[in-house]
Amino acid sequence: MAVYLKNASYIDWQTLEFRNTSLKVNEGADGKMEFINEIPADASCEVIDCKGKFVTKSFVCGHHHVYSALARGMGAPKKNPRNFYEILKYVWWTLDKCLDKDSIEASALATAIASAKCGVTYVIDHHASPFAVEGSLEIIAKAFEKIGVSHLLCYEISDRDGYDIAEKGLAETENYLKYQPGLVGLHASFTISDETLERAVQLADKYDSGIHIHVAEDKYDQELCVRNYNQRVVERLHDAGALKFSKTILGHCLHLDDKEKDLIKNSKVWVVQNSESNLNNNVGYFNSRGLGENIMLGTDGMHSDMLRSAKSAFYVGQGFDSIDYPGFYKRFRNAHQYLNSNGFNNDGENNLVVLDYDTPTEINQNNFLGHFLFGIEAKHVQHVISGGKLIVKDRKVTTVNEEEILEFSKEQATKLWEKMKSIDAD
Ligand SMILES: [Zn+2]
Repeated sequence: MAVYLKNASYIDWQTLEFRNTSLKVNEGADGKMEFINEIPADASCEVIDCKGKFVTKSFVCGHHHVYSALARGMGAPKKNPRNFYEILKYVWWTLDKCLDKDSIEASALATAIASAKCGVTYVIDHHASPFAVEGSLEIIAKAFEKIGVSHLLCYEISDRDGYDIAEKGLAETENYLKYQPGLVGLHASFTISDETLERAVQLADKYDSGIHIHVAEDKYDQELCVRNYNQRVVERLHDAGALKFSKTILGHCLHLDDKEKDLIKNSKVWVVQNSESNLNNNVGYFNSRGLGENIMLGTDGMHSDMLRSAKSAFYVGQGFDSIDYPGFYKRFRNAHQYLNSNGFNNDGENNLVVLDYDTPTEINQNNFLGHFLFGIEAKHVQHVISGGKLIVKDRKVTTVNEEEILEFSKEQATKLWEKMKSIDAD
């Protein structure tokens, strides 16, 4: 099967070259798209008229949290958090303790729908549900596949809820990696014992995977590392072997010294920037200086809109980073390189967005980045093709009944919020 896009204005996502053409988009994990002159008369496949529309490669989220999807609009925590640690304790660790199989499924479906509608066809997720660990990754994978969004998942292993739950996290990771590609998730250095860290690295080794971990998101992570291990976070990860994998993803990396930056720059690991989350948590500002080229962007569960993440990376970069138009676009597109250079499937050229973008000014190869930064938004995403399948048509998900799923997620959110009242975070 294939989808035909007729009379499109195609923008090459790498060269930014514009081309007036029709396209045949083939289905499959390693599917391709072809430029064609005419749509075959007997085409039994879907044909979309793209006259006046722009077609380009769809987007990837480099760091997401399905588990936070049902948090939107929930009541204030019992205690007003005064710092990052208290935000985790009174908000996120209270919420994740209350997740069960149904609310995980609702969270994953809602996240996949939101991602698809923003033109994101691939999500790298970091999941936590300490009292529903077993089978959680499979639930998320199935939910994403139902919508048609590709995924690279991991379970957030941590000792914060005791060694039994850390053990379950390790087991869930191994069960998942036995059957499909994924990563070995760790929460952050400050909630990981040496033994858990060592075993996580062994798992990554065994399954040719990598580590996905939050790094120095707040100064607290560094303070605890120095106090408990007499070394800094990246040194600790390096010594444990976590930086030897090209699939390793380090989230945030805000509070690093030059030695730690060198360790990252001289490795093959990837850093993922999440500017809006950093602003929301008041933990600091990302600065790429000294980190090397392997930097991609994520949402950190704040939302699923990568165009928004790209813009915020640029704006924060004005005061705290050195970032220009090509630089922020490169960071936005780097996730494709992360996926492709590491041999992950499902991010081929048959993943596309059709943008209904009305512009008051000329748009072309030379000024595209100005439009990308100041003009093009998620609201312009009209159709989305994932793996050669049309998963969003006229801004509606085609693969499921969106209304029914949103009803289900609202029901699950209400139950979750009620359950959270019974948690004593202290
Ligand atoms: Zn995160």
